[in-house]
Amino acid sequence: MAKRKQTVIIDGRKVASELKETIKKEIAEMIDGGQDSPHLAAVLVGNDPASETYVASKEKAAHAVGMISSTYRYPADITEKELLEVVDYLNSDEEIDGYIVQLPLPDHIDENKIIHHINPAKDVDGFTPENVGKMVLGQPAFLSATPYGIMELLKYYKIPVAGKHCVVVGRSNIVGRPMSILLSQKEDGANATVTLCHSATKNLEEITRSADILIAAIGKAQFIKADMVKEGAVVIDVGIHRLKDATRKSGYHLVGDVDFKEVMKKTSFITPVPGGVGPMTIAMLLKNTLLAHKNEIYP
Ligand code: NDP
Repeated sequence: MAKRKQTVIIDGRKVASELKETIKKEIAEMIDGGQDSPHLAAVLVGNDPASETYVASKEKAAHAVGMISSTYRYPADITEKELLEVVDYLNSDEEIDGYIVQLPLPDHIDENKIIHHINPAKDVDGFTPENVGKMVLGQPAFLSATPYGIMELLKYYKIPVAGKHCVVVGRSNIVGRPMSILLSQKEDGANATVTLCHSATKNLEEITRSADILIAAIGKAQFIKADMVKEGAVVIDVGIHRLKDATRKSGYHLVGDVDFKEVMKKTSFITPVPGGVGPMTIAMLLKNTLLAHKNEIYP
């Protein structure tokens, strides 16, 4: 029997670091040429630890490439009206190229109302209806950072996508749905046949087993098991979960939506957690901020 090829573990840290290096060089040249650095802002409401960590990593990454980064913090009891005023302010401040409003927001605030208020030209998360609409139409748009990062990973590893059956599990507005759209675009690096699954999907295992490329964005720890994956498939794991672990100093370790240890025995390529999709999300946010600074999406 022919020996199966060894699985390639996709190194998101390396790809993200190369991309950040390119961004850093471009910013250094801008500064040398007398231009301002791009400025990324973040709005953080309340003190959700995951949001705190995420915003802190964005700040650190922005500084590392030479961007200006600022965080606007508000208590969890800020009113919707007050937050809309913050958004108005960020929309009008010419020093800020792009900003994100960190989700989730407290229950008394309508997230859609806030997102719809963001100036699309500063929407570096790609969440506004204008950017989502343009993405669907295949027009220049700020792309949601996580699916954008996954497209970059597939490209970097020269994983053929055209004509392949891609199965995306999860249809959230920020990951699963835009992922399914990007993969199905009539473009180089895409052109896949896509199936989008969710909690009402019947025969999920049968569908995932038919995937050449399987993207797991479910939000359930180690949900995708080896018997749900075809031999030789490419598996991209978006999930991030903290599992309690008394052997670690931190008290936890991270896992994804995929049972990595078992699934990797069957795959041709797989992303680990941590070190797969996560680092790409931040790198793509920085790329979007640079594009916003250069007015490339909205000239
Ligand atoms: P959401 O909770 O918004 O969406 C989860 C999706 O999974 C929903 O569409 C849901 O279906 C579907 N789903 C839930 N249970 C099942 C099931 N049993 N069978 C099939 N489908 C199911 O999550 P997100 O998209 O925001 O995030 C997904 C994961 O990715 C999370 O772990 C999150 O932490 C992580 N994440 C990681 C990022 C990174 O940078 N690495 C960035 C963003 C998220 P339905 O629509 O029917 O409810």
